[in-house]
Amino acid sequence: MKINKEIMSYCKFCNKHTKHTVRTYNKKPQRGLSLGTRRHNRAIKGYVGSIEPKIHPKKLGKKQKVMSECAVCHKITERVMGMRTKKKIEIGR
Ligand SMILES: [Zn+2]
Repeated sequence: MKINKEIMSYCKFCNKHTKHTVRTYNKKPQRGLSLGTRRHNRAIKGYVGSIEPKIHPKKLGKKQKVMSECAVCHKITERVMGMRTKKKIEIGR
């Protein structure tokens, strides 16, 4: 999937369509005090070693995320491009 480096898109802070620069999505590190992490730490506390993992159904492909920065207010928003796909996103031009 190919995307242009600059796109016109809606900015929720400016409340109108503005120019956005697109770049790849970088995953943020996990928060140490989030509910899921606290629940997991509570579960493995004491003599119990590991907990049985939940079995999730396998998804075919991933949703491709990009970060877009508004040229007017310089706020960065995260957005999903297209549906689940096995192809990786290419940013160019
Ligand atoms: Zn904006």
